[in-house]
Parts: sequence; structure tokens; C-alpha cells
Amino acid sequence: MDIRELVDNHLANKENNRDHSYWHVSSLGMCLGGAYFERLGVLPDYNNDARTLRIFDVGNIFEEWLLDVAEPSLEKDTRMERQEDLVDEELDLTGHPDATIYKGKDLLDTWEIKTMHSRGFWHMDNEGQKGKPHHRLQLWSYLKMSGGAKGRLMYVSKDDLATRQYEVLADDKDLESEFSRAIGELNGAWKTKKPPAIIRDHTDWRTGYCRWHSHCLESVGLTDIYVSESQKEIYRAMETHKGYHNESVPGRKTPLRFKIVNIKDYRDQLRSVEKN
Ligand code: SF4
Repeated sequence: MDIRELVDNHLANKENNRDHSYWHVSSLGMCLGGAYFERLGVLPDYNNDARTLRIFDVGNIFEEWLLDVAEPSLEKDTRMERQEDLVDEELDLTGHPDATIYKGKDLLDTWEIKTMHSRGFWHMDNEGQKGKPHHRLQLWSYLKMSGGAKGRLMYVSKDDLATRQYEVLADDKDLESEFSRAIGELNGAWKTKKPPAIIRDHTDWRTGYCRWHSHCLESVGLTDIYVSESQKEIYRAMETHKGYHNESVPGRKTPLRFKIVNIKDYRDQLRSVEKN
């Protein structure tokens, strides 16, 4: 038995199980283009590597740990549900809050737990954030779907188990309008089969998590791929080894040039496409 192989195979199988029949609440604060292509069934440019999957799973392990610590302290007549299935058929949206707390049938509280390095706490304080904006949106969306009035966004640091928590309220108007914009854009794109507007600023942090660059940029007529600094190596490897998925996508008309372009070239390309 090779333990590394065992763990990596287990995590790879988990990743392939994502349900594509709905939008996922966790995508609403990310780049909507990625959510659109994923739901459409377009293969990403590359799979998450084994290390990334292990990091995701470590997050889940920490979350479970925090819930195990908190659950026994709940009041006697309350109960915790973990990963409850929430579905809004009208909006085509699904999500699974980490924990929902009930007293009888009454929903008292909703918890969403995130892991980060303790340095992340410092960054949030420095920027005056009460939790990361996309995490606040995620929790607010759960409240909207479940009818909850308030929730708690909890953070646990992976290096020293320090914790933070912030409140999110269902009557937060800013989150409500952010939610309507995101889900409106996704459902509009689904109806017209036109991808959501692309992110113009590729220094935007969301582009660093995007694995659909080639499809997205091709959809606006670009064939050179701009990727963020952190993804350059991956795309270089794809270019060298032809280990990317694009060749397996039926209907691709133009071969993509896996060229790493700088931001200025990318912006020039965008401008010329927009003019035509
Ligand atoms: S390439 Fe950029 S705009 Fe397109 S889906 Fe990815 S992050 Fe979004």
C-alpha cells in the first residue's frame, strides 16, 4: 500500500463528484466566467494538482474539528445539522452551509467556517474587513435560501488554531444587491448561452483561481492566453507537454496559442477585439 497514492486517488475522486445541475453558492463571489464554463461541462485547462486537493481537504478537516469542539456546548434543546442541502429551484442554486443550528423547527443560526494562515487575520484587520467579502456573500446566500436571520462567519488558522468570528445579517442590503447581481448575471448567461462579462483587470485576485482562461478568452475572440504570475508555470508546462484538455473539447475551431503575454499585450488585444 502506498499511502500517498491512496490519499491522492481518494481526493481526485471527490473532486470529480461536483454536481453541475445547479450554480454553487461558493462560486458567487468568484469569477462568474469560471462558474459558467464549469456548469456548461467545459473541461478546465488543467486539473487541480494533488497538492491543491490536499490543501482543500485539510480545510475540511479543520472545519470538522471546530464543529466537533462547538457542538457539545449547544443548549440542550438545540441541534446542529452539518452540510445541509439547500436548493433554490427558481434560481438554479445550491449550497451546503457548514452548520445550521435549530431549536425544534426554528432556524437559529448558520455557520460558515473557513481556514487560513494566521497572517490572513492580520490582512483582514488591516483592510478593515469583517471577513472576506466573498465569504460574507456565501454566508448571506445561505441565509437567503434558508430564511435565516443571521449567521456567523468563523475562521480558524491552520498554523496556530487561532479563531475569529464575524456576524452576517440577512438584512444587509449591500450583500443582497451583490447576490442579485451575481445570480442575475449567471442565469442571464445561461439563458443566452453567452458567458458572463470577463474580468478586465487580470491582477484581480479571482483570476488567480481560474482554470478556464483558454475558453473564456477565446469566447471574446482572443487566442493568446494571458495568465497570472502564479499560473505561468502551469501553462508553460501545458505548452511543453501538451497536457492540457483543450484538444479534447469538441467544437474548438481555432487552435489556441499558449503564449504567456504580459498585461499590456493582453489589454491591447482586448481593445482591438472590442473595436472590431
Ligand atoms: S479568464 Fe478571467 S474573466 Fe475569464 S473566467 Fe477566467 S478569471 Fe474569469
